[in-house]
Amino acid sequence: MSLRLRLSLLYTLVLGGVLLLFGSLAYSLVSVTLLDQTDALLAKNANDLIQQLRVNANGRFDSRLISTYKTDETIVFQVWGNDRALQLARPMSMVDPLDRSQFHNDRPVFNTTGETGKHMRVLTIPLINARGHAGLLQMGRNLNLFDTTLQTLAGVLILLTFLSMVLTGVMTWFVNGQALAPLATVTKVATQITRADDLSRRIQLSGARDDEVGELIEAFNQVLGRLEKLFTSQRRFLADVSHELRTPLTVIKGNVGLMRKMKTLDEESLSGIESEVDRLTRLVGDLLFLAQAESGRMPLDQSPVELDTIMLEVYQQAKTLAGERMNITINEIDQVQVTGDRDRLKQVLLNIAGNAVQYTPSGGQVSFSLRKVAERAQVVISDTGPGIPAVDLPHVFERFYRSEKSRKRNFQGGFGLGLSIAFWIIRNHNGTIEVSSTEGKGSAFTIWLPLPGEKTNT
Ligand code: ADP
Repeated sequence: MSLRLRLSLLYTLVLGGVLLLFGSLAYSLVSVTLLDQTDALLAKNANDLIQQLRVNANGRFDSRLISTYKTDETIVFQVWGNDRALQLARPMSMVDPLDRSQFHNDRPVFNTTGETGKHMRVLTIPLINARGHAGLLQMGRNLNLFDTTLQTLAGVLILLTFLSMVLTGVMTWFVNGQALAPLATVTKVATQITRADDLSRRIQLSGARDDEVGELIEAFNQVLGRLEKLFTSQRRFLADVSHELRTPLTVIKGNVGLMRKMKTLDEESLSGIESEVDRLTRLVGDLLFLAQAESGRMPLDQSPVELDTIMLEVYQQAKTLAGERMNITINEIDQVQVTGDRDRLKQVLLNIAGNAVQYTPSGGQVSFSLRKVAERAQVVISDTGPGIPAVDLPHVFERFYRSEKSRKRNFQGGFGLGLSIAFWIIRNHNGTIEVSSTEGKGSAFTIWLPLPGEKTNT
């Protein structure tokens, strides 16, 4: 059963239930009120009659009352003697007791007699005078009008309930149809996306909808956006990997071809092959690292790490790498201990320092500094290299991202993966990594790490 039909039926049934409940209440209320009115009328007339009742010398009720007593025509009565013989009656033809069940009762009582359609409300009152029990009065009123009124009321209530249910059913069917229409659109678009494999499609919000359906569409569009981004980056990643693999393989193939042609093991070609194999090994290592990191299978140590010691080691390695080409200095170094994975943190500093040395031309300067700033450790590695163009700056931490310039220069060893690995490592140490750079003047990479006890990732 469709949601639309289910909701319509539910509303209709709930409304039917509520109307039936109120209808029954109204019916009972009218019935009790009408019966009360009848009882009050009977009581008043009985009272009037009793006032006029006289017992004559031979102990019987005076029959002149029949002609003198004026009352509503719908009211009938019988006066019975103590011997339960009928003495007065109006109309005279009524010889059986109006209410046989209460005929021997000795206290006033109201009772409804007769079957449906011939109902009568009867008041039975024992007659007592100065000499004691004198007889019994039964006064009755036909309930035809009462029954007809209640029947009509019940009919009207049932008809109204039924009509309201039909009307509600029809109306909710249309209203639900309208309310659920966007869901049908969501389903349609989702199916089209699956069929056409087109994640760029979005569902249009009809009007400014800030209701649940609007929120659903918004969330669905966000999921689509995220999926599109993921697929695009996956596609780009595959293209990048293939590209990076192709270059060394082409070089290896070229060198092998050359040696085959020359029919000799040429030393230059061999070292070319060797360096490309090294590059491939590094690429595969980096890819493996990222794959493990992103799938959450890269455990990070949580031990105390002396950042200053690491910085000194990295400084030494940078000096060795740079040789006499440039000036490498430590501007400031505080004793700082953080909690984390020593090898991974060193890998980050080595990568950034390696880039600085690699990209900075001869005669340049690379500086290190390590400080405690506001409960955090701050590492800055800056250089006086070519800088990173403003358009590239927001992307340098993305996988395989290399600025146009570095691509053209085609430095050995650069895949554009180092900074994205560094970013992942620092983020998983609850830290942040930032870059500021001015083209032609140099770049500065700043790493913030929380000191032990600080858990903030700002
Ligand atoms: P790569 O292995 O290519 O250096 P990274 O991820 O380490 O990859 O760096 C990404 C890109 O950021 C580099 O290709 C380069 O364009 C730019 N970059 C990184 N560090 C520097 C720097 N110190 N000076 C200039 N450009 C830099």
